[in-house]
Amino acid sequence: MKLTEIDLHKELKKYFGFNQFKGLQEDVVRSIITGNNTFVIMPTGGGKSLCYQLPALVLDGTAIVVSPLIALMKNQVDAIRSLSSEAGVAHVLNSSLTKTEINQVKKDITSGLTKLLYVAPESLTKEEYVHFLREVPLSFVAIDEAHCISEWGHDFRPEYRNLRNIIKQLGDVPVIGLTATATPKVQEDILKNLDMSDANTFKASFNRPNLFYEVRTKTKNVESDIIRFIKQHKGKSGVIYCLSRKKVEEIAQVLQVNGVSAVPYHAGLDAKTRAKHQDMFLMEDVEVVVATIAFGMGIDKPDVRYVIHHDIPKSLESYYQETGRAGRDGGEGHCIAYYSYKDIEKLEKFMSGKPVAEQEIGFALLQEVVAYAETSMSRRKFLLHYFGEEFDDVNGEGADMDDNVRNPKKKIEAQDQVVT
Ligand code: ADP
Ligand code: MG
Repeated sequence: MKLTEIDLHKELKKYFGFNQFKGLQEDVVRSIITGNNTFVIMPTGGGKSLCYQLPALVLDGTAIVVSPLIALMKNQVDAIRSLSSEAGVAHVLNSSLTKTEINQVKKDITSGLTKLLYVAPESLTKEEYVHFLREVPLSFVAIDEAHCISEWGHDFRPEYRNLRNIIKQLGDVPVIGLTATATPKVQEDILKNLDMSDANTFKASFNRPNLFYEVRTKTKNVESDIIRFIKQHKGKSGVIYCLSRKKVEEIAQVLQVNGVSAVPYHAGLDAKTRAKHQDMFLMEDVEVVVATIAFGMGIDKPDVRYVIHHDIPKSLESYYQETGRAGRDGGEGHCIAYYSYKDIEKLEKFMSGKPVAEQEIGFALLQEVVAYAETSMSRRKFLLHYFGEEFDDVNGEGADMDDNVRNPKKKIEAQDQVVT
């Protein structure tokens, strides 16, 4: 089929059953199918996967998709297989495959059956795979979670730094980078490291107008404050984030003792308990999950009504991601962060054991968190500015949805600050 003849809406319906593209998807898809390097920045849940899956399905050849998490790759492969009658349409290539399985994958690619090949970055460095892949027709290489390439991201993975070299060995294929991290520094790093300054760039807005942002001073009454908030929102679902497993257990217990139905969630619990607690939350057997950042990956409960940070997070990227789990359905989402400088010092102390370069970045990210917590300007404007986005804090969508805008702090007169 000629590219110009492709009816994208028809293909969208045929493969995914959707009637409409979401946000910038259609433009991104067009950019990719016409063979351009393409850079996509969209918040989590924005629909980035489809941006490369649909082009892969309609183009000739195989698309390579690099993704950092094996579990996520498997999910995606299962999802794509369920859309097609051929299991070979998508494959994962990783170190756990047997020789026979690898041969099947190669056969499906060679015969043109495989449209999407998911590969972990460390597998892609394997000589054997590179040799094979350079001999077969490829449509493009998509690099999901592309911020992993940047030390300024929250999830730096050194293997990602080799990708450009390997892609060069694969021949002249378009590269697609996708990320939900929108800070200008990370974006620059991605474009530089993937050598794709010519890329068509698509950036969606990160504004979440239905989220209300609030920072509260953390005092010794923080627990009773949280309990009061929860009781005022009886019957609604909420997440409380804590920094340590110990704190998670502690807060979950305090809540239970005070008559709040809450369960803990952290990586120290066995998989069965974690799954049980997650299900209890999804099924609304409990109102509240008290969790470390281990909770959230792939959680899609649309009606989470509040996200409370008992402890301030390490970066504003994390804060944005975690608060982003509130109000997915477009309804109310109240985001409260408890802030004390003591907690900042604690985080600094955690970092002091790390290599110097990492420390410097960690401190810089933390300073932004401090600035956010202490600002008297619109918090939404501050957050969006951090992500490289200008926000009109008078007329913009959601402009009055934060504590600073609702209750402006009294301005300190300049003369008060003069040191005599
Ligand atoms: P991201 O990778 O940007 O976080 P995903 O690709 O995981 O987002 O997509 C998030 C959700 O949006 C998925 O449940 C997906 O099925 C849904 N979705 C994507 N595109 C569309 C669309 N055009 N119409 C309706 N739902 C969509
Ligand atoms: Mg994604």
